[in-house]
Amino acid sequence: MTWTERATPPSANRNRMQEASCIFCRIVRGEIPSRRLYEDEEILAFHDINPLAPVHFLIIPTSHIASMMDLEEEHRTLLGKMMVLAPRLARDHGAGDGFRLIVNTGRVGRQEVQHVHMHIIGGGEPLGSMLPRPRS
Ligand code: 5GP
Ligand code: ZN
Repeated sequence: MTWTERATPPSANRNRMQEASCIFCRIVRGEIPSRRLYEDEEILAFHDINPLAPVHFLIIPTSHIASMMDLEEEHRTLLGKMMVLAPRLARDHGAGDGFRLIVNTGRVGRQEVQHVHMHIIGGGEPLGSMLPRPRS
């Protein structure tokens, strides 16, 4: 066995190590308080701690998936459920007139928390443009 093989934990172990310290896994376990909107075995929704608009909440899987880049075929149903839940919660929590769903992904997407999450942002006035257009 090479040094690299010994130093790199198998992916299941690596995932467990990530889960232990992941902020959103800690929110799922109730170790960090959150204002919850919805929960079932597979999905949790809670208000963002630093809202960008009158309505800003997050929908996450309760199991640790670091990023959209890690999605596999087996996650198809779960992601579909999260997507279908978004407008229902938006309607019930003050964003019935439309919202923006954002999933920041990886370095280029400026994902800060490494646990897949959908931002649902809306309420009040129409939001700013999606992204500033690069100057030509
Ligand atoms: P990202 O930039 O990864 O797409 O977004 C992470 C989001 O998680 C940010 O909007 C941030 O405000 C939110 N967030 C980070 N830590 C916490 C926390 O401890 N509680 C809650 N409710 N939201 C958090
Ligand atoms: Zn996690």
